[in-house]
Amino acid sequence: MNNISVSKALFSKAQESIPGGVNSPVRAFKSVGGTPIFMQKAKGAYLYDVDGNQYIDYIASWGPMILGHAYGPVVKAIQEYAAYSTSYGAPTELEIKMAELIKSMAPNVDLIRMVSSGTEACMSAIRVARGYTSRNKIIKFEGCYHGHADSFLVKAGSGVATFNIQSVPGVTAGVSADTLTCAYNDLEAVQQLAASHKGEIAAIIVEPVAGNMGCILPAPGFLEGLRSICDQEGILLIFDEVMTGFRLAPGGAQELLKVDADLVTYGKVIGAGMPVGAFGGKKEIMQVVAPLGSVYQAGTLSGNPIAMIAGYTLLSELKSNPGIYKELEEKTLYLKKGLDEVLAAWGQPYVINQLGSMISIHFSEQAITDFASAGAANNARFAKYFHAMLNRGIYLPPSAFESWFLNNALTKEDLDKTIQATGECMAEL
Ligand SMILES: *Cc1c(COP(=O)(O)O)cnc(C)c1O
Repeated sequence: MNNISVSKALFSKAQESIPGGVNSPVRAFKSVGGTPIFMQKAKGAYLYDVDGNQYIDYIASWGPMILGHAYGPVVKAIQEYAAYSTSYGAPTELEIKMAELIKSMAPNVDLIRMVSSGTEACMSAIRVARGYTSRNKIIKFEGCYHGHADSFLVKAGSGVATFNIQSVPGVTAGVSADTLTCAYNDLEAVQQLAASHKGEIAAIIVEPVAGNMGCILPAPGFLEGLRSICDQEGILLIFDEVMTGFRLAPGGAQELLKVDADLVTYGKVIGAGMPVGAFGGKKEIMQVVAPLGSVYQAGTLSGNPIAMIAGYTLLSELKSNPGIYKELEEKTLYLKKGLDEVLAAWGQPYVINQLGSMISIHFSEQAITDFASAGAANNARFAKYFHAMLNRGIYLPPSAFESWFLNNALTKEDLDKTIQATGECMAEL
């Protein structure tokens, strides 16, 4: 057992002044039980907690640390720009450079607006879709998470799923009524909704690879099917690439899976760990955004210079060295193969879903293709696995309803340790 006495003391102190002791629910370890680990620092693939324990990191701050923590060029850029001022409330050239860089990497982005989180990006994208189409309703998928804006807290994934929250008090029935839901990968259900709400649906928003109910891949033809329903019905297709953007490929899931979105949202990797999100799309649609159009959207700290230079520096590295994506995928496939070997030897049912550097394990007999199958898995077993791994210095997401994210600082030795530890944990469970 690791000594985590300082984390324990901090967690009780935190609960006196922060709801549940954390500023984002999944961090509280509530679904896996136990005490959340308070971090002191991190470097490369390793986290160091306040008790001096080291962990191999498989969450990468939920994505942004794709090249590892405290990545040299990013740290240097932040330090340099912080000295000029941390915010102006007036435009800077950096914002143009960032927008141009994103446009050079991402398909179907003519205009892009920076915001401060993935939530803001998704919330703004549906406002744009509603403004552009003059329609009110949206379709989202059960178990997909698009941030905590009211419209999305209907059958949501991530923490909402982790804590089994069925309906969120504070979200009005009126708002929820405009959010229609279907099972992920169920194209027929989408078709039916589109037919029964003809002319009412502004947008379909989807995680092109779902990461908020564990990692779940789009079935062959699913995204293409959404594209054609949208084309037929005059609905906008929004890809929420907050997880997949700049992670699966320089141009995200749109590039990797070769399906075009009308609007796309970004977060996580885009800010290199600073609070950044963005939404963008074709000029014809994005020109409704204020001050060009009348769909109002704004932010005092949007395009913040420190956030921009951090994101710009990271994205530049990813763009100039696309071999990174191959390396990340090879590492993830190596991990998957090793996990498969030790889990098969253990002999109990399990499912590993993986694409690029996103991967997750569900303890399940049936394939994990949607929220119902993810929810039916043995998630109590995942909680035990999580703690057994944590004790061995391996930090997995503290919920089966989250994807793992590999970072490119991970070495073969780290991966071997993770595989071996999984074998040991299974013998223990
Ligand atoms: C994390 C996430 C969000 C929300 O982003 P925040 O920065 O936490 O507001 C939205 N969509 C997806 C797919 C996400 O994974």
